[in-house]
Amino acid sequence: MPVVPMREILDPAFADRYGVAAINVVDDLTLEAVLAAATDLDAPLIVQTSLKTVKSMGARQFMAIWRTRTEDVPVPVTLHLDHCPDREWISVGLREGWNSVLFDGSELDVAENTRQTVEVVAEADRFGAQVEGEIESVTGVEDGIGSDAAGDVHPTEVSGEFIAATGIYSFAPAIGTAHGLYKAEPHLMPERVSEIVAEHPIPQVLHGGTVLTEEQFTDLIARGCAKVNISTALKIAFVDAHREYLDANPGKHDPPALLKHVRTAVKDMAERHIRIFGSAGKARAFDSATA
Ligand SMILES: [Zn+2]
Repeated sequence: MPVVPMREILDPAFADRYGVAAINVVDDLTLEAVLAAATDLDAPLIVQTSLKTVKSMGARQFMAIWRTRTEDVPVPVTLHLDHCPDREWISVGLREGWNSVLFDGSELDVAENTRQTVEVVAEADRFGAQVEGEIESVTGVEDGIGSDAAGDVHPTEVSGEFIAATGIYSFAPAIGTAHGLYKAEPHLMPERVSEIVAEHPIPQVLHGGTVLTEEQFTDLIARGCAKVNISTALKIAFVDAHREYLDANPGKHDPPALLKHVRTAVKDMAERHIRIFGSAGKARAFDSATA
């Protein structure tokens, strides 16, 4: 199964109301671990990178690893660039082969965000790539992007106008979630997802879901959040697994054993989310569609 466009993964998920995990990887180990999780559960998967990761690894270098790792993956996978406010890096990502990009113009006013998102959609079209749009910043800082202050929330009609004017493929609505570990109890606004989808039926993207319960995830997915971002949960699994191993094995210097322990923790985290989101077993439908 080759790497496929974002729409091939999200169209059926949105139509059938299951969620696809979109996991922010940070290196080759985490990439391999989440691909293995998707393979074992026969699930489609979205792999995404923060701009910070792309800058630290190099776009071309990451893409070389991505191509190698996905050559023989038996489930459909696609690659997305998460929150990118920088147009030059959007262009780099599209040119290098990312299948989808989130142009994060949430710091701009809606008119300027709309104008620039129209340009990004046209640019992405030329590469057969899709664009995720956002007008309200998700509270919290993630890999250096964003702010801890709660952002403006516009009436849902403004979201609808933005979707219609830009032709974005997917939309990240503000629904009260926050990036990272929450500083305050979230006040969720799941009805915003239903309202937007009723007027503009395009896949919605759930950001900042780290502390949501299984019921909250499944409710938001049922309302149309077909792409569910996982970033903080990977960071926690990755870092804590290092700490656990090192604490349990003082004086031991066995990198392969350490890495194996970390890989298992990351893979388990990915499998847990794929199961909750309802995409386990969904890769089978792709086999029959392409057979
Ligand atoms: Zn986000």
